[in-house]
Amino acid sequence: MWRYFLPTRIFSGSGVLKSNQTVFKENGTKALVVTGRSSARLSGALDDAIEILKNLDVPYALFDEVEENPSFATVEKGGRIMEENDCDFVVAIGGGSPLDAAKAISALNKNREITCDDLYRGDSLVAFPIIAIPTTSGTGSEVTPYSILTDGNGIKKGFGMPSAFPIVSFLDAGYTLTMSREVTLATALDALSHSLEGEIVNNGYNPLVKMLSVESTGIIYRVLPRLIDRERDFALREKMQYAAMLAGMVIAHTGTTAVHAAGYPLSSFKGVKHGIANAVTMIKVFERIAQADPERIARAIEPFKDLGELEDFLDSFRVQEMAPILTEEEVQRWSELSSKASHNKKTPGDLDRDFYVELYRGLGKR
Ligand code: NAP
Ligand code: FE
Repeated sequence: MWRYFLPTRIFSGSGVLKSNQTVFKENGTKALVVTGRSSARLSGALDDAIEILKNLDVPYALFDEVEENPSFATVEKGGRIMEENDCDFVVAIGGGSPLDAAKAISALNKNREITCDDLYRGDSLVAFPIIAIPTTSGTGSEVTPYSILTDGNGIKKGFGMPSAFPIVSFLDAGYTLTMSREVTLATALDALSHSLEGEIVNNGYNPLVKMLSVESTGIIYRVLPRLIDRERDFALREKMQYAAMLAGMVIAHTGTTAVHAAGYPLSSFKGVKHGIANAVTMIKVFERIAQADPERIARAIEPFKDLGELEDFLDSFRVQEMAPILTEEEVQRWSELSSKASHNKKTPGDLDRDFYVELYRGLGKR
């Protein structure tokens, strides 16, 4: 028995916003446009969206303050702006951070009696409709029901609910052309980790998820080494955007493994980009899984022949050099945190506190 659910309408291609403008007036009467600080403008996506809203006479308010690893405080501020302006749908433009913040803002605002903590209660809340325009190719947030926020103690944690699936996602790879090499690499490796981790959880069970993962991993395997030196290449950008979306469809059904849990403190406390945080912990986690179930890893990482080839692939981008060396105090505190993450339940192998101590102690020392 398996299920597949994706309530998001996807429009893809160059100029796709302008050729499907009416979508912007089908889902509400006043928009809150949610972005990060600069890239929505830089990429051209914000100008395009605002021009369309103006053409359609759809009023809007702008909240352009979402930071990387968005905090509860930012989401609450966005929620207040949405409430003050009486908006009834959200246009989210940017990487995973603005998209995730927009999902939370939308849910908070539709349920005015709740706080950010309540988003994690496991209830399926109704949210205002979200239109997503990704400018990175990594998180897959444009097709997932998840939002990853950082609480007041610096702890990154995700919630998910069906209403957080965007109602519409516009994929125009033109908006991803301005990503730097660093952001391109980090986001592509996040997509790769989604595709691999998701299939480790799935283990061939859901054939659609398996198909999506095989396609996504294969594209990243072939395209990333070329894209990394040709960042303005639209055709390669489009392929990477597609692969990231497929990987998002995978984790929408599987969630992620301990790789994500292990990486979260590196992002919130050390500023390591999310995809790099995954990449520097991936091999050690996968090796532990392989001890418990070697066949499962072998099948999930195809077309990589084995973990050695996957490690060489990551090393070709020098990811280990981007890992910070941690103090013993950090090692102990984060091991405690990560060993309690719900991701461990989905990860084969015994990922206890000692495992994380060894993992964190080894970072940056290879
Ligand atoms: P991001 O945090 O949204 O953005 C990273 C950086 O890239 C920011 O400085 C951003 O600038 C810049 N940027 C974005 N698009 C750009 C463009 N087209 N040109 C130039 N610069 C650009 O990065 P992300 O990797 O996409 O998102 C990471 C977040 O998503 C993490 O919090 C992670 O935990 C979460 N995540 C969510 C899911 C999910 O299913 N919801 C899955 C995995 C990860 P600005 O600050 O100016 O915008
Ligand atoms: Fe991720």
